[in-house]
Amino acid sequence: MADHNAFPPDEYLSEAEVSELHDILTQQLDGLLEQGRRAVAEASQERTQEADELDIAITESNRDFQLRMADRERRLLKKIRHALESIQAGEYGTCESCGSAITYKRLLARPVARMCIDCKTEAEQLEGRRRFF
Ligand SMILES: [Zn+2]
Repeated sequence: MADHNAFPPDEYLSEAEVSELHDILTQQLDGLLEQGRRAVAEASQERTQEADELDIAITESNRDFQLRMADRERRLLKKIRHALESIQAGEYGTCESCGSAITYKRLLARPVARMCIDCKTEAEQLEGRRRFF
């Protein structure tokens, strides 16, 4: 029992906690997919409304904007999928940097978190320094 695992039991996510976080992630995933569907529907509607003689440059820049928006959503989508996969793999809630447990409180605020707060803070400080110099 002693070497069953490395964390104190109270730092572990209970089954109920994991299932709650799973629900939150699934909802976020559904929301993003719905948002994406709506964006695609709007984009195709705009296209049909466009007159043939419409300046192609405007169309291009609109599409750039939509792609940029979609890119941010795609990144979040990837994070959510990754979190859902790690739930299935039974690895959810473990810091990818140091292997410590990520607290339930932190995961509730940010279900896609892949690092514990200490590692995240450190990573952000490094990132900040890099940006500063
Ligand atoms: Zn960590």
